[in-house]
Amino acid sequence: MNTPPLGYVSTFWPDLALIQPRIEWLASGAGLNSLCPMKARSLLSLAFVCVVATVFAQRDFSNVEIKTIPVAKNIYMLEGAGGNIGVSVGSDGSLIVDDQFAPLAPKIEAAVQKLNPGKLKFVLNTHHHGDHTGGNAAFGAKEATIIAQSNVRKRLAGDANQKKEALPVITFDQSTSVHFNGEEIKLLHHGPGHTDGDSIIHFTGANVVHMGDQFFNGGFPFVDLNSGGSVEGYIKTVAAVLEKVPADAKIIPGHGKLATVEDLKGFHAMLLETTGLVKKSIADGKSLADLKTAGLPEKWKSFGTGFINTDRWIETIYNSTTKK
Ligand SMILES: [Zn+2]
Repeated sequence: MNTPPLGYVSTFWPDLALIQPRIEWLASGAGLNSLCPMKARSLLSLAFVCVVATVFAQRDFSNVEIKTIPVAKNIYMLEGAGGNIGVSVGSDGSLIVDDQFAPLAPKIEAAVQKLNPGKLKFVLNTHHHGDHTGGNAAFGAKEATIIAQSNVRKRLAGDANQKKEALPVITFDQSTSVHFNGEEIKLLHHGPGHTDGDSIIHFTGANVVHMGDQFFNGGFPFVDLNSGGSVEGYIKTVAAVLEKVPADAKIIPGHGKLATVEDLKGFHAMLLETTGLVKKSIADGKSLADLKTAGLPEKWKSFGTGFINTDRWIETIYNSTTKK
């Protein structure tokens, strides 16, 4: 894949793309004010995080449009700002996977209503980050049942800014299923990956998998080491999905365009190769500065134009590998 021109980047990684990882990092802690001094590891990153927090606080969502993309059968994907939303519509009502940012809840609701007038019965959260759970309070207050892995509830409940209605009311440790609109929708937790509370969500009848942030289509991933994430676990989870997923399944990534199994395979190959290179260099005694100077092979360059640039990906692998 060649380096895309700038315009391509901005459509490929819409809206908050460039500051998203920092927003996710912020969203992963106990609120902006307390988090800035607590989690920043250096004065430089402290300054950066707080600047980004300000940008986030001032963000105007009024121009964000929710785009509806048919995926397969009764399953759709919604793009707006933040993580991609999966939607199941049918005679039982509607179900969504993730709900982006709080100010977008009315637009998300309108998009779902357009597909299927009636009740939104379930919200499934792939993980706790604010660009995937921001609409929880609005939908929870309207009596949608929110379901997520246990650590999602723990992390949201630990955030003083979260309303009670935003918390998942049904939680599970390993797996659970929702039988809805004529199919079994499986939620499966594979252990630490992007965070410590990720679920892969499989619409078994429609043959669609929502990966949450266990898949950044076409980009290096954000792995939230401060929220129990692990690069090694992240790769294992992607491998576990690839082992079982039907070759013709449609894949909804947490970020990026609707994908195929081939796209996910390419992402997995990138993860294996880039982490292999960084780990070898660490074993050879190279410092983080050395690793950043050396960079990664040219063929992965376009992956560094989205949420996570090449330096930050190298740093994430380095920190995840050396913190044991
Ligand atoms: Zn995330």
